Amino acid sequence: MNIPEEIIKAIEKHLESVVVKEKPREPNVFWAVDLSRCIQIRNILIERPELEKLFIEKEKEKARMLTGLAVHKYLSEVLKARMDVEVEPRCERPIRDGILNVKVVGKPDIVLRVDGRLIPVELKAPTRLYSLPRPEHVSQVMIYKWLLDAPTGFLMYFSHRGWKWWEITGFITTDEIRKRILFPKMPLWPGECERCKLKRYCPKWSARRR
Ligand code: SF4
Repeated sequence: MNIPEEIIKAIEKHLESVVVKEKPREPNVFWAVDLSRCIQIRNILIERPELEKLFIEKEKEKARMLTGLAVHKYLSEVLKARMDVEVEPRCERPIRDGILNVKVVGKPDIVLRVDGRLIPVELKAPTRLYSLPRPEHVSQVMIYKWLLDAPTGFLMYFSHRGWKWWEITGFITTDEIRKRILFPKMPLWPGECERCKLKRYCPKWSARRR
């Protein structure tokens, strides 16, 4: 028995089960993470959930995910022991009008209770410390604020080189969320297609290349 190989296999199996089951997608449910990036990714994953595995196709992606999960688990335990926090609570809010009948859902990494208000904090473990917050992460925090009716929210990056954080003061409106669902920009951010793990399954990408 090759023990290191068995260990790697066990870790890979676990990571796959986490990525595929983490956000079970349903047609009328929109996760904050899906509304914070190109929504075509969600459309493809609704049809083919198994493609989520492509996000950890390469060894360095698996390693990044493993580090992220470990940092997460550890920080959650530290914070739970010392502060009034909830870890990954599921939050949801419906949007029902003449056109839409959907639920927006999110699981902020940490929600702090401060003076009776709920404050979401998103913890990320990027491989490098970005000097500016990534727009998709800022968007995620803004959607958590909208879900929790929070006065503010925070985004924190932890890496082996140090940590950085930003208070996310901007708000997203129900109208903006409706627009992202009804009239989505695909891609949502510049350069997203080039980095996209699903481009070989995306009709928009194929059309752009023609
Ligand atoms: S290739 Fe571009 S348009 Fe297609 S899913 Fe990826 S980010 Fe979206």
